[in-house]
Amino acid sequence: KTLVVAIDGPSGSGKSSVSKAVAKRLGLGFLDTGAMYRALTWHCINGQISFANAAAVEHAARSLNIDLSLTPEKDFVKVNGINVTGPIREPDISKAVSAVATNLGARAELVRRQQVLIAESGNRMVVEGRDITTVVAPQAEVRLILTASEEARMRRRGLQLGGTLSAAALEEQVLARDLKDSAVVDFQQAADGVFTVDSSELDFEQTVDAVLNV
Ligand code: C5P
Repeated sequence: KTLVVAIDGPSGSGKSSVSKAVAKRLGLGFLDTGAMYRALTWHCINGQISFANAAAVEHAARSLNIDLSLTPEKDFVKVNGINVTGPIREPDISKAVSAVATNLGARAELVRRQQVLIAESGNRMVVEGRDITTVVAPQAEVRLILTASEEARMRRRGLQLGGTLSAAALEEQVLARDLKDSAVVDFQQAADGVFTVDSSELDFEQTVDAVLNV
């Protein structure tokens, strides 16, 4: 039986870990679409492709080989055969990624690839990102937005990064990126037929249960 679970939400909402746990519990594949935007960003920086050159970024999106884990049990991302699993999570990528995400040609290409990957899973996958409920998989059997208050999101991201970041740097990481991202896709507002789960007052297990209930 097909079951696509589309999960959108801002950074620090717990989206990634919750989506993975849900995929494990339901025996579904898992696609982290943000990792694809990060991989393209890493490639542009590494290959000295200027973000200002929209055509070059779009061309990179089309020609790049992105090989990433499609199950919740593993975590790896390879760009043209290079393992970038660690590097794409570094702050310099998080800071630059919006420049790639705002490139409409690159978006169209990544969305197309994501739709192919979902189909190849036999339409049995949890897919998380910013535009999954609206653009990538609007026909998904289950669509939901995972939100949390700004306070909760900054606290979680801070813990995730080992508590080494200043409040200002955290704000840049979390709030500034969401602001830039909202310019392209409205992932904070649930579209028609899309459920909302607010994790501000929930711990990890409770959030997973809330998603499983939906
Ligand atoms: O989810 P994550 O924080 O890894 O996503 C990184 C960035 O990729 C986001 O800040 C956003 O700019 C972009 N993104 C997107 N659409 C998606 C997933 C991620 O624009 N579906």
